[in-house]
Amino acid sequence: MDQDVKRVFNFSAGPAVLPVPALKQAQKDLLALPGVGASVMEISHRSKTFSEILEKAKANVKTLLRVPDNYRILFLQGGASLQFSMVAMNLLRGSGKPADYIITGSWGGKAAKEAKKEGTVNIAWDGKNENYVRVPDRDELKLSPDAAYVHFTSNETIQGVQFPAEPSVGDIPLVCDASSDILSRPIPVERYGIIYAGAQKNIGPSGVALVIIREDLLERSSETLPSLLNYKLMAEENSLYNTPPTFAIYMIMLVTNWLLDTFKTLERVAENNTKKASLLYKVIDESNGFYKGHAQPKWRSNMNVTWRLPSEDLEKEFVREATSVGLTELKGHRSVGGCRASIYNAMPLEGVETLCAFMKDFQQKHG
Ligand SMILES: *Cc1c(COP(=O)(O)O)cnc(C)c1O
Repeated sequence: MDQDVKRVFNFSAGPAVLPVPALKQAQKDLLALPGVGASVMEISHRSKTFSEILEKAKANVKTLLRVPDNYRILFLQGGASLQFSMVAMNLLRGSGKPADYIITGSWGGKAAKEAKKEGTVNIAWDGKNENYVRVPDRDELKLSPDAAYVHFTSNETIQGVQFPAEPSVGDIPLVCDASSDILSRPIPVERYGIIYAGAQKNIGPSGVALVIIREDLLERSSETLPSLLNYKLMAEENSLYNTPPTFAIYMIMLVTNWLLDTFKTLERVAENNTKKASLLYKVIDESNGFYKGHAQPKWRSNMNVTWRLPSEDLEKEFVREATSVGLTELKGHRSVGGCRASIYNAMPLEGVETLCAFMKDFQQKHG
C-alpha cells in the first residue's frame, strides 16, 4: 500500500473490511494477470485462467470448511436475499409439505416472508416479542414432523445474535443463512442440507452468494423453474450457465488464500475471532451499565457486537467522535439503533484494541 494511503478501521456490517493482502494482490494484478496480459475482469469466464480461479476458490472453501464430497459448491448472483426465494422455490414449492423457520432476528424474518410466497411456512420459533436477544432452546422449537426443510440464520447481523451450534433437526434438511459468519469458525457441514451466504460480509465483495448444497437435494429442483433459479441446473453447469460475477469470485479466491496462508484452519480463525469479540464484550461488561449489550451473553455474536449507550444523543456523539479518530461505521442498523461493531475475519486485532481504548476513554469523558 502506498505510504500516503491511510486505511481506517472499518466496522461496517457489509460490504465490509477485506484483508489487505487480498486487496494488494488484486491491485498488483489489476492491469494484467501474470501470463495473461489482461485483467481478470476482461477475460472469458470460459477461459482456462478463469476456470482455474473458479476451481481454486471452490477448493479453498472445501478445504477450510471440510466440505464432504457429496456437496456441491456454487457461486450465484442475487445475494443472500435471492437465496431466500431460491431455497423455497427449489425445496418448498409444490412439495406438499411445510417449511419450518426459526427466526432469531431481522434476516430470518425476511427469509420467511419470501418463503411464504412459495408455500406453507411454519414459524417454529420467533424471538420478536423479546426483541431478538437470544436463540431458542431445542425444546422451544415447534418443528413439523414432515417439513421440507428447517431454515435458520446462524448469525443475525443486525441484532448480533449467534447460534453457538446448529439446531438439531433429525433427518429434515437443515438450511442455513450463514451470510455474516461463514468461514468464521468450523461447522459440521454434513449436518446441513444447504448453507448459503452473501459474500460481502466475510468472504469477498458484493455481487455473489456462496451456496453449498447436498447433492441429493438437487433432485428436488423442478424443471419449470427459471434456469438461473434452478439449483440442479446451476450445479450441472458448475455455476457457469451464464456469465458469473467473475471479479467477485476472483476476490473470494484471494480472501480464502489469505485465510489458508494466515490461519490454515477455521479452528484458528475462530480462536482469533473469539479473542477479538471477548475484548469488546469485556469493555461492555465492565462499564457498569454505561454500555449495554443487546444480546444475552450466551448468544451474543462474535461477528457483530451490538450495544446501546445511556441516550441517543450520546450514541450520536460516540459515532461522531469515533469516526473522527478513524473508527468508522459504528452506527447500529437503522431498524434497531444503538451501536454495532462488525468484526469479521479481516478486522485486525489492532482495530478492536483501538476501539476498546476509545470506548474506555469515551466513558471516562461522558460517563
Ligand atoms: C446481509 C445479510 C443478508 C442480505 O444479503 P444480500 O446479499 O444483500 O442479499 C441476508 N442475511 C444475512 C444474515 C445478512 O447478514
